[in-house]
This record gives sequence, C-alpha cells and structure tokens, in this order.
Amino acid sequence: MPLVVASLVEGSISGASDSSKAAFRAGADLVELRLDHLEGFNVGMTRDARREILGPTIATLRSKGQGGRSGLAGSRREDALKELLESDFEYVDLELETDRSLLRKNRGAESETQTIVSSHFPRPVPRDVVEKRLVEAMTLGDIAKVAMPCESAPQALDLAQLGLKFSRLKKRFVIIGMGLQGQLTRVFADRMGSELVYACLPGKEAAPGQMDVEAQTSMLEGSRKVFGLIGHPVSHSVSKPMQEAALKHLSLRGMYLPLDFPPREFDGNALRALKNLGFKGLNVTIPHKGSAFKLCDRNGESATATRAVNTINFVGKTVVGENTDVIGFSRLLDGKTTITRNTNALLIGAGGAARAVAYVLSERKARLTIIDIEKGRADELAKTFGAVSVSVKKLWKSDRSFDLVVNCTPVGMKGMAGTPLKAGFVGPGSVFIDIIYNPPVTKAMEVAASRGGKAYGGLEMLVQQGAESFRIWTGLEPGVEAMRAAAGRALL
Ligand code: NAP
Repeated sequence: MPLVVASLVEGSISGASDSSKAAFRAGADLVELRLDHLEGFNVGMTRDARREILGPTIATLRSKGQGGRSGLAGSRREDALKELLESDFEYVDLELETDRSLLRKNRGAESETQTIVSSHFPRPVPRDVVEKRLVEAMTLGDIAKVAMPCESAPQALDLAQLGLKFSRLKKRFVIIGMGLQGQLTRVFADRMGSELVYACLPGKEAAPGQMDVEAQTSMLEGSRKVFGLIGHPVSHSVSKPMQEAALKHLSLRGMYLPLDFPPREFDGNALRALKNLGFKGLNVTIPHKGSAFKLCDRNGESATATRAVNTINFVGKTVVGENTDVIGFSRLLDGKTTITRNTNALLIGAGGAARAVAYVLSERKARLTIIDIEKGRADELAKTFGAVSVSVKKLWKSDRSFDLVVNCTPVGMKGMAGTPLKAGFVGPGSVFIDIIYNPPVTKAMEVAASRGGKAYGGLEMLVQQGAESFRIWTGLEPGVEAMRAAAGRALL
C-alpha cells in the first residue's frame, strides 16, 4: 500500500510544524517539507526545520526549472542538498535533471536517508519518454519519481500501465499524472504500485489534482467505489457532483472521475485498462455511446434497442452495456402526459439521445415524426422505430402541430443560443419537453409556454438516468433527492 505524503507549502518553519501536526492527525504517513516555499530559505534553516517536524519527512528543495520556487543553482544548490542529506530527514528529494552530478557522487553511499529521484515534465509526453526517464531515475537513487500533466484520460492510462509494468518488476517508484485527467493515478496509486502518493491539507494543493489527506487515504481503502464518465468534452460534467452526492448519501467511500477521451481514442484496450485498474462502472457520453455499444461483451435490452450505451457495468469478467437514458426519459415523461396510439409526437434531432427517446415513445405506441438537419439520420431512426421522417424545411413550411414535442438537439443549451422549435408546432394542450438541462429554462421552453403549451426541461431525465446507473453499479437504492439537489447546485 502506498504511503500517503502530505505536501507542506508553508512560508515559515512554525507554519510547517503546525501543518505537519494537522497532516499526521488527518492520517498522513509522512510529510513533504517544501523548503523552497520557506521565506528567505538558507542552509542554516534545514536543521531547525528537522527539529520542528515530529514525524517522518521528505525534504524537498524544488527548483524553478522543475516547477518549484528555489532559485539556488550550481554549487549553492549542491551545498544545500548535501546539508539535507546529512540532516536526519528520512527522505531527500533530488532532481534528475538539476542534480545529476550530486546523484552520481551520492550513488551507493551508506546512509539512513533515502533519496527520491524526481523528474517533472512540463507537458504531456509519450509513454516511452516517461519510461526512459523513470529507468534512469531508478539507477540513481532509492525511489524513482516522475510527474507529468495529463490533458486526457489516455495519457493518464499510459502512466497507469507503466506503473503496472514496474510493479511487476518489484521496482520502487512513484508515478503521478497531474491535473484532473491525471487523478486516476492518485486514486489507483495502490493498483499501479506507486510507493508514495502525494496529498495536501484542505485548500493547500501543492500540485494540480492533489486530493486532501483524508480523501486520498480513504481512496486507498479496499471498499472504494470509483466510477468514471467517458466522453469529450467532460470538464463541466454535472454527473460528478450528482454521483458523489449519491455515494455520500449512503456513506460510501468513492469518487466519480470525468475521463476525457478525444474522438477515436476510446477503444477496447482503454476499456480493459479501466476495468483492470479498478473502476466499478462507467458512464458514456458524446461522442462515444455508439462505440461503447460495439465494445461491450454483452448489451442489455435498452442498449440493444437503441444501439447506444451510456452505462457500462463490470460483471465479473464480462463488460455489460446498458442505456439508462431510456429509463431517464420514461421517468421524465411520467405524470406529465399520457401517451396513446392517438398521440402525435414530434422528435427534433436524431442523434445519440434521440435514440432513447424514440425507443420510449415507440414502446408507448405514439405516432412519431422525426426531423433532423441531416435528413438521413432522421430516416434511419424513423426506420428503426417505425416512425415517419420529414425534412426540417418541409415541416417548418407546413401548419402541423403536435400533442407532444421533444427537443433532442443541443440548440438552446448553454453556449448555443436559439430554438429548434417552430412556435406553430405547439398550442394549448401540447406538451413540450426539452431534454437540455442547462439552462433549466430554454428559449424553446419559453416559446412553447407562450403558445399555451406545458414545457419541461431535461434535469429530471439527467437525475433519473444517473440514479439508474448507480443502481446498476452498486445494487443499492441511491438518494435520488440528494442527487437532484447536487445536480441543481452544480447548474447554478
Ligand atoms: P447529438 O448526437 O449531437 O444529436 C443532435 C442531433 O440534432 C444531430 O443530428 C444534429 O445535427 C441535430 N440538430 C441540430 N440542430 C438541429 C435543428 N435545429 N433541427 C433539427 N436537428 C438538429 O446530441 P445528443 O447526444 O443527442 O444530445 C442532444 C442534447 O440532449 C444535448 O444538449 C445533450 O446535453 C442533451 N442530453 C440530455 C440528457 C439528459 O439526461 N437530460 C441526456 C442526453 C443528452 P448536426 O449534428 O448536423 O448538428
């Protein structure tokens, strides 16, 4: 199990001493004293610092070139590091790039102090470049450490794979993916075989993506439940606060990680790697729902009917795909309108989400008309679900109105102003549903209401699809109200 290290970024020795006590109380195994953050740092301060911190400590003098604040260079830096190596710290962090000559001189020295050989990449690099650095660091000290910012989930997965490889070789190393996309390397530091995992005190992050000590410690305990969202983009996912609220409501340890997979980068290898790492379940969103359907070993009824997967469950060795947008939309409909064979329904947009909506409406026997800017898409969906497709232009020119209209286009969502709804499509007695949930009231909903129709947004669909995913992953009943409240707060 990795040791949890609390990085202390304080300006004074007394501040670092107080923070070290808080860190050990919170469950840290050791602390990292960032000497480069101490105001007016000089060599003489190292022994005072050692005396003031009562617990196992890593002494780090991070240079500016490696993302720290220390401007000491050449012989002045080397003298300071020699002093650290003689100051009874349990570990001293030395930099592969900056301190190579000292590392070579120190190699093989008999000492109680262990050396951590660090290397920080300023930007993402290919896996073989990281591996080369790691191997060189392993030859020069006790523990090799590499840190790299991750801009996408595949980059973080590459780091995780590297960890799995070196842990099989029983090497001593730390591999860190920085930023939110790199967070899986912290959550699964144990599976990757990292010897240390760096955390912080609340609000005092020393590196992007660090968790606080308590959260990091709880993540390393066996019963954690970690879920992820595969999509592109995923940065403003409402599912994260919503699913984490469901975990918290049931006092379960866990996390929900948005995983950014650029188009074409989500494949069978990525899915296997996520499963092997320990994800308990995944959501899938734009643009990967179709590829997820093809990648799953088995698909449930809703996924098979829609040929789209928004929920992946790992059942033993089998990867099972489901589509909880179906139940999400069904629950959104409930109590708002009764659908019969005489219900004239219009579906605007024939993309990913429309497949679930068309399935539900066809199951309820509505008379369904579908339009999409891409007429071919509307044709294909209409053929699948026994509906009629019409060109957007033709329908707009007609004087038709509908009992039920559902917007399944992104037009009207935050950042995409406008409405795909012609006012004449709805009238008094019509129901208009916009599955967009941000903003809560879209322009199209205003148009429908101004025509005397009833208008509803997509938040309830989001909450209900998320709740169903949670049931599938855990077998537990989530606190739907807690999920709804968290989603609402995230959208404010
Ligand atoms: P999508 O796959 O991109 O599908 C949208 C379809 O609508 C595309 O075929 C698009 O054509 C077409 N379209 C765009 N403007 C149109 C217009 N004015 N008239 C007719 N067709 C038009 O998107 P999606 O995944 O289905 O998502 C659609 C929206 O639903 C998004 O805003 C998403 O956030 C929301 N959603 C909500 C939930 C929920 O739980 N509430 C769940 C899923 C999705 P082009 O590609 O040519 O533009």
